[in-house]
Amino acid sequence: MQNITSAQAMQRLVLAARRKGQRIGVVPTMGFLHEGHASLIREARVVSDTVITTIFVNPLQFAPNEDFTRYPRDLERDTRLAESAGCDVLFTPTPEEIYPHGFQTTISVGGVTEPFEGVFRPTHFDGVATVVAKLFHLTQPDKAFFGQKDYQQCMVVKKMVSDLAMPLEIVICPTLRETDGLAMSSRNVYLSAEDRQKATVLFQALQVAKTLIQSGERRRMVLEEALKTIILRQSGITIDYAAAADSETLAQPDEFSSEQAVVLLLAVRLGTTRLIDNLVV
Ligand code: AMP
Repeated sequence: MQNITSAQAMQRLVLAARRKGQRIGVVPTMGFLHEGHASLIREARVVSDTVITTIFVNPLQFAPNEDFTRYPRDLERDTRLAESAGCDVLFTPTPEEIYPHGFQTTISVGGVTEPFEGVFRPTHFDGVATVVAKLFHLTQPDKAFFGQKDYQQCMVVKKMVSDLAMPLEIVICPTLRETDGLAMSSRNVYLSAEDRQKATVLFQALQVAKTLIQSGERRRMVLEEALKTIILRQSGITIDYAAAADSETLAQPDEFSSEQAVVLLLAVRLGTTRLIDNLVV
């Protein structure tokens, strides 16, 4: 596996690969890799000749009060994990490579960025869209792989790609979970042993709401109350949102039709750690 840090070297490598007709798969990450990331790399491996994993903790997508400086980093471990999952090129640019002095462009996607995460992290998706667009230009993928774990992010990236006619396909991969149901996340290392235990309530709440939907409950408020009641049974958790929405538009009707696929979306705070999860039913 090659490690590239320069944007120019990255672009040179992919242009040469594309000239040879190679299919390029890219997995954008912020590092501190876990099995969820590895599953994306393995998926990319199956359908690509060159698999690129990018590791970049993107300052633009963190608000000043968020965890940018303490975000966990371990490049040595990431290198081993990426290579064993089948990655060919690890791209680990510095902030100066991505945002050289004088950088002044922002990509701002409307609509799907507004509810849920958009309410609590109003500048977040501009940062995500801008860095993902830049990474796409540097790596020129045929396919880019994202995790359903970040449901709204997937919608934002898909919308950007479609609106700007970017010539690539976005592949959404399922959320990998710990054995007790907690969605794998680099941020789980922030949790104390006690909070780690409490965090399982997210998956439990999603499962209960899923069972309600499957038994015919379509009233949004009833589903959302069920999510909230279960989560708040644990002490020390605050809810940013616990919502049910149309899985394609994120619309929130009073009642879902029987054909409508519903996405259950959660964001909670446990101490200083913010966790998100979701389930499509
Ligand atoms: P991150 O490093 O957290 O920005 O995540 C990089 C990519 O990995 C994103 O597309 C995430 O949605 C995806 N990802 C993160 N956690 C998981 C997980 N538990 N299962 C599947 N994909 C994940």
